[in-house]
Amino acid sequence: MRARDPGSPIPVLFPAPQVGTRDSRPGLSGLSPEEQLAWLAGQGQPAYRGRQLADHVWSGRATSFDDLHTLPGPVRESLSAAFRLDTLVDTTVREADGGLTEKALHRLDDGRTIESVLMRYPARGPRRERATLCISSQAGCAVGCPFCATGELGFWRDLETAEIVDQGRFWRRHLAREGRRVTNIVFMGMGEPLLNADRVLAAASLLSDSRAFGLGARHITISTSGVIPGIEQLTSLRPQYTLAVSLHAARSALRDLLVPLNRRYPGEQVVDAATDYADATGRRVTYEIVMIAGINDTAVDAAALAELLRGRLAHVNLIPMNPVAHTPWQPSSPERIEAFATTLRNVGLHTTIRRNRGIDIGAACGQLAAEMAGAPAPDAVARRRDLLVDRSAAALRDAGDSVGAG
Ligand code: SAH
Ligand code: SF4
Repeated sequence: MRARDPGSPIPVLFPAPQVGTRDSRPGLSGLSPEEQLAWLAGQGQPAYRGRQLADHVWSGRATSFDDLHTLPGPVRESLSAAFRLDTLVDTTVREADGGLTEKALHRLDDGRTIESVLMRYPARGPRRERATLCISSQAGCAVGCPFCATGELGFWRDLETAEIVDQGRFWRRHLAREGRRVTNIVFMGMGEPLLNADRVLAAASLLSDSRAFGLGARHITISTSGVIPGIEQLTSLRPQYTLAVSLHAARSALRDLLVPLNRRYPGEQVVDAATDYADATGRRVTYEIVMIAGINDTAVDAAALAELLRGRLAHVNLIPMNPVAHTPWQPSSPERIEAFATTLRNVGLHTTIRRNRGIDIGAACGQLAAEMAGAPAPDAVARRRDLLVDRSAAALRDAGDSVGAG
């Protein structure tokens, strides 16, 4: 196998923001029901206080421990000394698609910001209405996919379990006002969930626990750019979550460019690990392909992908690239995406085309946070664009060289 030259990394465009110190108290919603009970028992409280506390955390609207009126004053004081009731300090919500998409920018205790997006799907025929929530797992992301706005920001820090869960609690309160509820949660916001696997799995477990957030595991999707140890950790737990793999290209030279983690965890091995998950759980894996004009949308790419995935328990989701400010790339045309889908369907692969939501509010992964980070230096943007043009030309050349090479 030819050694791949990693080249210099594609530079991030924004300096890490100046931030404040962290609040040392963990978020209460990051505790499992057992941990909450154990804490109350340590305070000499009877077991029924556990249910009262859980009601406040998972169904209540209280914003301060003072509002937890069913609990005695001294317990409220001890709780407040030990925990935060909400780890999201404040939140701004913006609407798009006539209210069908809403995007929240949440500020954390240290001043960093993360995003979550709610997408509403009205009832259609026999299909009940849905409200899918897309949440973040990290502030920023270290993987650095060049088409992704979060990738441009670089990595800031992992989110705590409660910071992940509290995004769900925020939208639950928001939707409760109109008598609606969150029906699906996808880990497709900022960050690489399986590079923060322990916290993400703890959060997913709380979100799917009927004593906590209570969403069925089958309604939770974990999306990864291909962190094999994280996929293996998931497989060993055999949950019923949907696993989504951001594949983007079957040809390795191209995937090296689009998902830099490919040098560490090559696509074919990622697909094998994901297939083990599918075999262990009986759940079809979703493969995501962001469709970028002239880069990964050719007939050769469609054929390579069909070859890689045929016969596997797979679903392919083609996503027109949401244009981001600092890349030279554009989304593929609808005709190209249709042709790509046809090649996949011809080998029996279940394939869907996703419509982009909320483009007008920058609802792609990390786009709003990138906007908030301010305008990057024009020469840095120009260098990044030039580098991407050169790199994509080289990747396409290498990918072409390796076609048929096995
Ligand atoms: N880090 C994880 C999850 C967050 S990204 C992952 O990469 O899977 C969630 C999805 O949004 C991924 O499939 C990612 O490729 C996609 N995405 C990122 N930037 C995008 C853009 N500009 N247009 C369309 N999809 C994008
Ligand atoms: Fe990170 Fe996912 Fe964006 Fe890639 S697409 S930079 S893995 S958040």
